[in-house]
Amino acid sequence: MSIFAVRAPLAWLGPGKLVEDALVVMERGRVVFAGSSKHLAVRFAGEGGSETLSGESAPPEPDEELHVDGFLMPGVVDRHVHIGLSDPGAVLAGGVTGVRDLAWPAETIFSLAEASESPSFNGPLIRCAGPMITCTGGYPTRSSWAPKGTGVEVRGSADAAEAARNLLAGGAAVLKVALNADAGPTLSDEELLAVCEVGHGADVPVTAHCQGRGQVQRAVGAGVDELAHAPWSERLSDDLVQAMAKRMRIVSTLDIHSFGKDTPEVRMALDNLRRFIAEGGAVAYGTDLGNGPIPPGIHVGEVWHLYRAGLSAERLLQALTYRPLAAGEPADLVGLGRNPLENLGALGEVRLVIRAGRRVR
Ligand SMILES: [Zn+2]
Repeated sequence: MSIFAVRAPLAWLGPGKLVEDALVVMERGRVVFAGSSKHLAVRFAGEGGSETLSGESAPPEPDEELHVDGFLMPGVVDRHVHIGLSDPGAVLAGGVTGVRDLAWPAETIFSLAEASESPSFNGPLIRCAGPMITCTGGYPTRSSWAPKGTGVEVRGSADAAEAARNLLAGGAAVLKVALNADAGPTLSDEELLAVCEVGHGADVPVTAHCQGRGQVQRAVGAGVDELAHAPWSERLSDDLVQAMAKRMRIVSTLDIHSFGKDTPEVRMALDNLRRFIAEGGAVAYGTDLGNGPIPPGIHVGEVWHLYRAGLSAERLLQALTYRPLAAGEPADLVGLGRNPLENLGALGEVRLVIRAGRRVR
């Protein structure tokens, strides 16, 4: 099969693009057409014949066509997982076509990320940080969840910079620093700055695990680009939240403090995140998959927390995805039983998953 098409009554192709009678056509792992099929029936009779009334170029004839009686959207991306603690096949079958692994030993995660580039890999596309950069004895080197090598311990700024360069050479798509004062010593400001300098010099973002008093402030001061968790261990000042909203992104991971229950930690995280969102801060969906009983695939519990934090349904879909469905983009998409813009619970009704043009569910 070379050209494959999916139709549905409704699709969200990307920000501001909700279309009826949706048609997505794929070839060699890429989208070649994504839009409404309404106008396609009437083609210009003139030469070329490939222009439609709507001005879009017409899709090629598919060899195979599938109909989803529901809703199409781009594949979901989970920006915070530990894929080694989960089942990649179940993650993909659950509608997550891309993940970012935020800490795992270098010797396994970099080769797994490379293997995931193959369209036939039974799992999502994996981008990774490799191990977390931490100080001697710092988090997560003494944590029971973390196999040996999940943290790389550095001493001094030259050592920190070298560790960061080694991770980039190994294929890190993001650098992660540990600032967990509740679990032991933390990186010095000099070490933190050195990692940020190497990351930014290579155009690679730096994400931080911040836990304990004052750690978010330190991350912001050093120029960290992202928090790997919505901060839950202290209430951030409005001034700090305002400064963060201008230049940082927060990965949600709210349900790890809750698992469906009301807890002081999830309340604190929601309070911080709500103010961050109200200031216009950018939020990405992430579950910290592997940490406790987070289910593989799209986690509707995390989605509901994000909704409570103040994201509108459309901004939620944005936070859940990475690339729009448009010509030239990767053919990663999900079919749902109904429209999640009307009821977010629809995100738990995955009917179809396509990764790199290949139907996996
Ligand atoms: Zn994590």
